[in-house]
Amino acid sequence: STASGNARMNREKSQQIFAKAKQLMPGGVNSPARAFGGVGGDPIVFDRAEGAYLYDVDGNKYIDYIGSWGPMILGHRHPRVVDAVKRAADRAFSFGAPSVGENILAQLIIDLVPSIEMVRLVNSGTEATMSAIRVARGFTGRAGIVKFAGNYHGHVDSLLVAAGSAAATLGVPNSPGVTPGTTQDTHIGRYNDVPHLEQLFAQHGSEIAAVIFEPVVGNMGCVIPSPEFLRSLREITRKHGALLICDEVMTGFRVSIGGAQQLYGIEPDLTTLGKIVGGGMPIGAYGGRADVMKHVLPAGKVFQAGTLSGNPIATAAGIATLEQLRETPPYEYLEKISAQLEAGLAREATQANIPHVITRVGSMLTLFFSSVRPQDWETASQSNTARYASYFWGLADRGIYMPCSQYEALFISAAHTPEDIEATIRSAAEVFKTLA
Ligand code: PLP
Repeated sequence: STASGNARMNREKSQQIFAKAKQLMPGGVNSPARAFGGVGGDPIVFDRAEGAYLYDVDGNKYIDYIGSWGPMILGHRHPRVVDAVKRAADRAFSFGAPSVGENILAQLIIDLVPSIEMVRLVNSGTEATMSAIRVARGFTGRAGIVKFAGNYHGHVDSLLVAAGSAAATLGVPNSPGVTPGTTQDTHIGRYNDVPHLEQLFAQHGSEIAAVIFEPVVGNMGCVIPSPEFLRSLREITRKHGALLICDEVMTGFRVSIGGAQQLYGIEPDLTTLGKIVGGGMPIGAYGGRADVMKHVLPAGKVFQAGTLSGNPIATAAGIATLEQLRETPPYEYLEKISAQLEAGLAREATQANIPHVITRVGSMLTLFFSSVRPQDWETASQSNTARYASYFWGLADRGIYMPCSQYEALFISAAHTPEDIEATIRSAAEVFKTLA
């Protein structure tokens, strides 16, 4: 199979719509990863989704391993969420004023995420990390932040440095339009590298307001934190009076109901949330220690606002999703079918003599076409991305929709069945044979 799809599936309508989209929107998309730069070829245009499945505009059906990049942990159109959204839409689209749904969602977040005592709702993960950084700076009176190469925290100017795919160069922005001025206070750490972190703090400790990190990385493919790394993040920040910001936009309510901080026993000062917290609608949130959060306007002086923040329809989707997760936790089931996928892919790749490393935490997983176990950006970026592109299209042509980049984790939902997983493994076995 070629690296851009082939005759196994008709995608004429997709191609027509995308050709038009390219005239209307930059690159034809509203977020760059969707344009398939990581695998080549035209993106697939979707029409609807149900449970674990996507249906494109040509009527092709796919098993979905993206789940909108994380939010759809219950699968698409879970009846409880659909019902909550319909009922909310009957009452109001937006108040721009307090409503009781905000209390309910805030209480759920505070109950479920161990370190959150007080929370502010925003509209995206980017807004959450941007605001958390501002609060950390306002609280400490310091300017510096540490982020790790290959970690992505949304398109916040000061965090758009070494964000997932660029070289890990200190303070050099990833994007035109991000000025050196906005990134000069950003220090780049190496994920899982404790001596390097100690060195950063030895040099700049008194200027650093916060360290922000992905507690399981999803944005360079799935990369797992070492226990020593997690321990030293907490110890070093505490010692130097800096805040620890755990970016759980991807891992929150995903790797456990209390996120990675519950799974690993991390005690951050601030946590950022997105994706699942909105059940597929646009919500983000940041929260943590009450004494820190009380610095946010109007309780304190750190400015942060939003016309649509706490939107009643979005909060309804979030509430229904979190209540469903709390009442009927899918995590054991997710672990079981995700382990099934991991084992099957490993078996078939080995059988076909394809060098590979599979990383997984719960229902986040990446198959790296590499012989090196990734633990930071340097090791993760050694993967064979051309081979990944062929793998991606081989599976797409067999009705399986994987992340359109080697450097994105896949997500499994509670709607996936063991039969979906077996079908995926069988198709992967066919594709591996074409790659050898
Ligand atoms: N933080 C992490 C860990 C993410 O994975 C993402 C998005 O993928 C973001 C922040 C940004 O969230 P959003 O795309 O909702 O702005």
